[in-house]
Amino acid sequence: MSISASKNYDLAVIGGGVVGLWCAYLGAKAGLKIALFEANTIASGASGGLLGALMPHMPTQWYEKKQFQFEALIDLEPFAQQLEAESGIDCGYARVGRILPLSLPEHEIEAKQKCDAAAIQWARPNRNYEMRTVKKPTHPNWPHEDVMPHGATIDNFSARINPRGVTSALLRCISDKVDILENSPVELQADKSLKMPDGGHIIARDIIVTAGLNSFDLLQPFVPSLSGRPIKGQAAMLDTKLDPQLPVVHQAGVYLIVHNDGRTAVGSTSEREFEDGHTTDHLLEEVIEKARRICPLVGNAPVVERWASLRMQPYGRDPLVGPVPEHEGLHICTGGFKITFGIAHRMAAAVLAPIIGNPALEMPPSFQVENRVNHIFPRT
Ligand SMILES: Cc1cc2nc3c(=O)[nH]c(=O)nc-3n(C[C@H](O)[C@H](O)[C@H](O)COP(=O)(O)OP(=O)(O)OC[C@H]3O[C@@H](n4cnc5c(N)ncnc54)[C@H](O)[C@@H]3O)c2cc1C
Repeated sequence: MSISASKNYDLAVIGGGVVGLWCAYLGAKAGLKIALFEANTIASGASGGLLGALMPHMPTQWYEKKQFQFEALIDLEPFAQQLEAESGIDCGYARVGRILPLSLPEHEIEAKQKCDAAAIQWARPNRNYEMRTVKKPTHPNWPHEDVMPHGATIDNFSARINPRGVTSALLRCISDKVDILENSPVELQADKSLKMPDGGHIIARDIIVTAGLNSFDLLQPFVPSLSGRPIKGQAAMLDTKLDPQLPVVHQAGVYLIVHNDGRTAVGSTSEREFEDGHTTDHLLEEVIEKARRICPLVGNAPVVERWASLRMQPYGRDPLVGPVPEHEGLHICTGGFKITFGIAHRMAAAVLAPIIGNPALEMPPSFQVENRVNHIFPRT
């Protein structure tokens, strides 16, 4: 879509990943006139992946951050249903649960504590979310008995979503309501106008910076103390034909997630040092081999896709959500790292609240921009 260089908006969203898409979707629902700027194509960054694990934090040592994620994981389910109904696109959401194998004797004691804590922290009226221990796999070779010598915990709260499904659904829902400008890497000027690659300027009353890795560069003139670092991740899709209701398996950093089409996503590496953030290599092959050993049910299914991208981990680890202090109209919403797909809709609702005049959503202190600008890092 082309727009005139002088066009004014209520809201400019910088970044078309899953977080920016949720911001545009919820902002448009609130009646805002929105432009969404994406440097490349929509969901071509970290959000264009394969896995989509929706994994709750452990229920022990509960505090605000875990509560925020818990509530987000609860209401993502109806949000996904609504998106599917509006867009006609399958988001690939299912609350399939998760198996965590226990490899050491001491894990059994911790597992019991987690199960007890889940009974308290995950309690909901009319829903029985629980974590329990099992001695044997609930499905043969998912995982292999040998990887769970001390049993496993299994829960019925964890879920999965198809990253490409949910971003496609969001895109379709906003496409006739939001000006979407792809191949438009914008620069944030000192006067808070947005400079387009062709030299044109866009004015918006409010701006949300949700540009993944680039968020901090864009905000450098305003809040130089905020920073983050890229962590490379690699994942693959195996051409299995498995039951899509199989639970997510997570063992020693390796995930196996069966999606609605019966294919199995496996991942991920976590690399702090790398030469190229977007190519796959032997580290992914090691993950795939581990995944085959953990869950022999995938057999020798061929790899149909290999994928790599950079997740952004902010300094202070947690997401940053809210207004930038002393810079009216400027907001940040970024940095969910490995859990973004489960919380992006809540991050978006929280950053939008003051923009659309809604009551503020309670935010964990560690997410609040002011704390991070002032180098206060509450428990993360
Ligand atoms: C291998 C791997 C596995 C993962 N697995 C999971 C998982 O199982 N579950 C989970 O929840 N999360 C997972 N994640 C993390 C998740 O994918 C990311 O945290 C999430 O996609 C980040 O979304 P985002 O919108 O913040 O960033 P991005 O998707 O990176 O979007 C930011 C966008 O901003 C654009 N941009 C940058 N600069 C500008 C500019 N100047 N102007 C306009 N646009 C700009 C970029 O092009 C990009 O498209 C995984 C990540 C990886 C790499």
